[in-house]
Amino acid sequence: MESLNFIEHIIEEELKSGKVKEVITRFPPEPNGYLHIGHAQSIWLNFSLGKKYKGKTNLRFDDTNPLAEESRFVEAIKRDIAWLGFEWEGSVLFASDYFPQLYEFAQTLIKKDLAYVDDSTLEEIRRMRGVPTSPGDESPFRNRSVEENLDLLERMKSGEFEEGSKVLRAKIDMSSPNMHLRDPILYRIIKSGHHRTGEAWCIYPMYDFAHGQSDYIEGITHSICTLEFEIHRPLYDWFLDHLADPSKVRPRQIEFARLNLNYTITSKRNLKRLVEEGHVDGWDDPRMPTISGMRRRGYPASALTMFAEKVGVAKRENVSDMSLLEFCVREKLNKSATRVMAVLDPIKVEISNLDDNYAEELPIENNPEAPESGSRMVPFSNQLYIERSDFMEDAPKKYFRLKPGGVVRLKGAYIIHCDEVIKNESGKIIKLKCSQIANSKSGSDTSGVKVKGTIHWVSAKHCGTAEARIYDRLFNIEYPLKDKDKDVMEFLNPDNLSIIDTIYIEPSLRFAKVGESFQFLRKGYFVLDSDSTSDKLIFNQAVSLRDGWAKKN
Ligand code: ATP
Ligand code: MG
Repeated sequence: MESLNFIEHIIEEELKSGKVKEVITRFPPEPNGYLHIGHAQSIWLNFSLGKKYKGKTNLRFDDTNPLAEESRFVEAIKRDIAWLGFEWEGSVLFASDYFPQLYEFAQTLIKKDLAYVDDSTLEEIRRMRGVPTSPGDESPFRNRSVEENLDLLERMKSGEFEEGSKVLRAKIDMSSPNMHLRDPILYRIIKSGHHRTGEAWCIYPMYDFAHGQSDYIEGITHSICTLEFEIHRPLYDWFLDHLADPSKVRPRQIEFARLNLNYTITSKRNLKRLVEEGHVDGWDDPRMPTISGMRRRGYPASALTMFAEKVGVAKRENVSDMSLLEFCVREKLNKSATRVMAVLDPIKVEISNLDDNYAEELPIENNPEAPESGSRMVPFSNQLYIERSDFMEDAPKKYFRLKPGGVVRLKGAYIIHCDEVIKNESGKIIKLKCSQIANSKSGSDTSGVKVKGTIHWVSAKHCGTAEARIYDRLFNIEYPLKDKDKDVMEFLNPDNLSIIDTIYIEPSLRFAKVGESFQFLRKGYFVLDSDSTSDKLIFNQAVSLRDGWAKKN
């Protein structure tokens, strides 16, 4: 039997009892940055619940702060969700579309004598709020009449007052141990254009006033959110107790533990700093834990959702391991990526017993995990590049790659014997003179020569060149945000990007498309980067073939 997570348990019970007829969830981002891997978790959770219970999932932007929000973030977020493979119900929704309704809600609270306009400064309000262990002080403006409050709010809305001169507050309880209930601010004056409503409003609802009410307006049945909102729940309930129509669906808020990942950060505020302070080249830099960065890095969408599913939903804070995410990436790419040959650090091989005009095309399988993907022809000649690390001059006995007087198989081609090592004046090896063993062709080898190692190669006469970008952890400590007294940027890994100017690639890679992933045999998974031009191809390493971090630690 399938095991249910705690949210599914709740939902199934409610469906069974008839309390809920149709499950409606939502993903409610604020368009003030790009989505990160933590958001991918929330997206996966909300959309897969909607799908599993044959309900709906809305995409609603909680765009209540014109100072931080931009349309380009809306577009990026939509692109990321679609790329992850999820479809929202109907058209995209915006909390800003509910501004008129939210304003009416505010008027309703005033009419019930449950909200008032406060002329205190933010500093005064903070001071009067006090500390959780002792009651706060009531504002001197708390007992204004309903008429005066309605009039002042209307005039705040139309721009009559300066920013910071007035706010609308709920009238709840200045001695509540829950600080969120000590007359929270509902509306503040902001006189700058909003990405959708332009100059129409001079006041904007606080997130806490907009969020729960927007869920209610949309008929959301399950408002799934991260644990930090647990303490806001009594406030959201208070609003709906006074505003909701009892005959309508009231959202049930369920909290789960946010996703954290070691060696990186899942905090928009700090990701924004990485971008703005130039530590990375934008939100979609392949080092970023953003969805767009991971896409550009060559992580498949299916690996992100597989990871979200593996992490699952927890009730307690925890940190997931980056190597679990990389495991998911390898799992998916192993099935889909074409195997190709590329030499990252070359050493020349000359095959002396082949003519200078010798040329042959050899079939190389595209993906042994997907036999239907067939094979392609790769040119072979008497001038090759192999990886410098696949040759060793003073090799130990157990070294099965190329050594002086030794033999090795060239992947999909022939066995070669190393006859001579050529060095320059400074003693650096510049060429290996080898001979091809007769009748040793891969697939029809009758040479009788035993080899223990197979290495990759490219024909120096036919290959192309490219740049390779190799990434390492973004931060060099496991929990970069743990020490609150230190600036997180101090922990950036200075070696999080290394660029190899020239690698040698087999000719088929000249036709790679941006975003297409390959396994460079024995080197890792690579994807063609969007910075590539027709003159210069750039490959990002998504992951190495094995978990390299395990041994680094
Ligand atoms: P950050 O905390 O990084 O600044 P945020 O919570 O302010 O992000 P929102 O745009 O408000 O970003 O988030 C949209 C949704 O994604 C919310 O429902 C939020 O709870 C959820 N979410 C945000 N971060 C995570 C995370 N790390 N793990 C799971 N869900 C998350
Ligand atoms: Mg938030």
